[in-house]
Amino acid sequence: MVLQSVRQAVREMHGYTPGEQPKQGRKIVKLNTNENPYPVPEVITEAVQECLAQGLRKYPEPSSWPVRNAAAKAYGLHEDQILIGNGSDDILTIILRTFINEGDVVTTAAPTYSLYGTLTQLQGGRYQPVPWGEDMSLPIDALVATKAKVTFVVRPNSPTGHAVPLKDVAELCQRTKGAVILDEAYADFCEDNGISLLTDHPNLVVTRTFSKSFSLAAMRIGLGFMSPELAAQMHKVRDSYNVDALAQAAAVAALDSLDAFAPYIARIKASREHLIEALRKRGFDVPPSHANFVLATIPQGKRTGTDWLNDLRKEGYLVRYFGNIPELAGKLRISVGSEEECEGLLAAIDRLLD
Ligand SMILES: *Cc1c(COP(=O)(O)O)cnc(C)c1O
Repeated sequence: MVLQSVRQAVREMHGYTPGEQPKQGRKIVKLNTNENPYPVPEVITEAVQECLAQGLRKYPEPSSWPVRNAAAKAYGLHEDQILIGNGSDDILTIILRTFINEGDVVTTAAPTYSLYGTLTQLQGGRYQPVPWGEDMSLPIDALVATKAKVTFVVRPNSPTGHAVPLKDVAELCQRTKGAVILDEAYADFCEDNGISLLTDHPNLVVTRTFSKSFSLAAMRIGLGFMSPELAAQMHKVRDSYNVDALAQAAAVAALDSLDAFAPYIARIKASREHLIEALRKRGFDVPPSHANFVLATIPQGKRTGTDWLNDLRKEGYLVRYFGNIPELAGKLRISVGSEEECEGLLAAIDRLLD
């Protein structure tokens, strides 16, 4: 049987379960995977169309140099410090392929983004997440004690929405021998970010995605920021043409017009505060969020988390429920949609509570 030749690590793993992507044409408001409800500024679709008009015959720039150049300007870094990926998930894969041999430890504070476990298993590594500390603080001692080669910190974290103090991330970098990956998928919705920590911490990698704040999830674009020496190693690991030409065109246009995204990001942040307030009024327990989603504990009552998920789906609203994770029982992660989508969701909740 050919299946016996499949690597044991692959046979024994489950594979990642992405958030549900409903069939096209189905009328449902997607508030389950933290996509941006607003369109991209027109300059970006124009750049993609221009690229398409030039034809698709030739290979794209292998190292995504135009994107690195634009990102260097946008973020005040040098292009040698930047790695571009086919989504930030590609950057995460490259990181683990760069660092993790069979048996090496990867850690993080959990609950968090579950792809890290899947990617570690693929490398034959050992995934050893530790619980968040008191008041959701970064459990620095516990993380350091795992002696991990790679430690992930998601800031703001998903699905909790909280952001640990940057000085704790700096302390973790100082005390850990391995690499610290600061996953900043949601940083544009937060008040601050960790890019300036790169100067003093050569073991730090900061990752970003265009899927959330930039409304470009379909394009698959991610960024990694790190020391030039580390970036040179990772360029050897990535696929030689890992970002296609259309994605590169979109990424350059987006980085050249960051200001155009600011009003949309501001609207999402305002809607987030409104949504938190409105959910609290309806009996949900909702902590503050620094991302484009909220984590709401359902009110006491006969409806379970799974019931809420299914009943809201019937009402036309898809949210995320991580029922198999004990710490997240009874909590719904709800992406912040447009003003209209948030109002619609609240009306649906009112109907269910009636
Ligand atoms: C969405 C998300 C990603 C993945 O981003 P892509 O660029 O779409 O691959 C990575 N990390 C976290 C924490 C995320 O929430």
